[in-house]
This record gives sequence, C-alpha cells and structure tokens, in this order.
Amino acid sequence: MARDKKLIIGNWKMNLNVHESSLYVHKLAQIVKVHRDVEVVLAPTLLALQTLSLQVNYRQFKLAAQNFYWRDHGAFTGEVSATQLHGIVQYGLVGHSERRHVFGESDKDTRSKVQAALRNNIRPILCIGETTSERTMNETNDVLHDQLVGGLANVTSEELESVIIAYEPVWAIGTGNNATAQDVATAVLAIRSQLKHLYGARAAEKVSVIYGGSVTADSAADYLALPDIDGLLIGGASLDANAFNTIVEKAFKRSKVHK
Ligand code: PEP
Repeated sequence: MARDKKLIIGNWKMNLNVHESSLYVHKLAQIVKVHRDVEVVLAPTLLALQTLSLQVNYRQFKLAAQNFYWRDHGAFTGEVSATQLHGIVQYGLVGHSERRHVFGESDKDTRSKVQAALRNNIRPILCIGETTSERTMNETNDVLHDQLVGGLANVTSEELESVIIAYEPVWAIGTGNNATAQDVATAVLAIRSQLKHLYGARAAEKVSVIYGGSVTADSAADYLALPDIDGLLIGGASLDANAFNTIVEKAFKRSKVHK
C-alpha cells in the first residue's frame, strides 16, 4: 500500500529556553512550507508549549510533549499530566530511549502513558528500540516485541490508529551512528508483523511507523524512500532550521512520489 502522508517530528530535547524556542519557531515559520501531506510536529521544552501553542499556525506545525505523567491529577509534585496538556499539544512522546535508559522508565510506565495520552485525546508516539548489546546478542526482535506488547497492552485496534510507533535504536540516537536503510526496513517489517499478530493485518497496515536515530538532511531521503515508513523523528538536526526544512521538503517529495 502506498503510504503517502508523512510525519516529521523535531525533538528539541532539553535545549532552548522559552524565549529562544519562540524565536526559533518564528524562524522556522518563515521557511517551512505547509504541505497537505506532511505533518510537521515540534517537541520543545515543556515550559515553552503554552507560549508556542498561541504562536504557531496549526496548519504549519503541531506540538508534542516530550514527556508527561500518566495520572490525570493529584498529589504528584513536579509532574505534568496529559490532562493538563490537552488542548496544548496534539502528540506526546512515550518511552523515548532517554526516558527509558536515563530515567529508568519501564514498559509498565509506557503502557500507562499511552493510555493517559489516548484518554486525553493526545496521539502517543511510542518509541521502541534495542541497545547495542541487545543488537549484538541478536535480541532486536525480542526487544521490539516486548516493548510493543508492553506499551500497547489495553490499546484496542480502533485506538491503535491514533498511535505512532517510532523505531529508535538506542545505539543510533544522538550518536551519529546511522542505521542503514536496510536495518530500518528489517526492523519496521518486524514491527508490522508483530502488530499483525496482535491486531490483525488491516490494523497493522494502517498504523504509522516512523524512524529516528541521527537522521540528517543528507540521510533523510534514504529512510523516506522505504515503502513502509511514515516519517522521521529528528533530534539534533531539528535544531538547525535549514537542515530541518530540507528534511520536511524531502518528505514532501516522497509523499508526492507515492501518490
Ligand atoms: C531523538 O531524540 O529521538 C533522536 C532521534 O535524536 P537524534 O536525531 O539526535 O539522534
């Protein structure tokens, strides 16, 4: 099936303060064109989300939370819930490798966050991927399976249509170690076949699967050319306006090619 709508997500991580974020969005707004078949999503610091939600043209950019807590309200000092983010963001990252490996988030946490996002009308971007040692030990498919099953438990096949799966091998994130297009194609195939097993062929075909890990303006086209890929999650390169715009334009070209 032709997958013609592309999703490009910029994860700014813990960079740029509120003022800098606003200036950067202003700069992006001047160069990134609106394309019907490309959805561009920005994930700035949580602090800037409110300001940017008033600044962006939603036809041009959607917003994503980099993280949130899974309870809706209550005595959870310092946390921000999906309920509080409702109306400000359209997407939320869940289980990013830095959350899993720096902050020790488990599959149980990701499952609760996927549920919290869905019940608050926020599309969860469930990030999954193996570490270097898991890859060396040939455990990639097992890791992808466990993180998918762990994160998606309780998600119905109807809800699955709102979920985005991001294949983000830990060894490729922020390292400059590019996964080859073949690596990505193999992993995405494994993800779709596991989803088929869990939800059936139709649901597995429909779900959006994107790739992230040291993607640059130069390497983006190789991944976007894969027939089974719906977009990219960009960290470092999303902080360079020209590089990010080039990636959006490459996604646009790819979306047209598949029409
Ligand atoms: C990310 O933050 O999800 C990511 C893929 O980062 P980078 O592009 O810098 O590897």
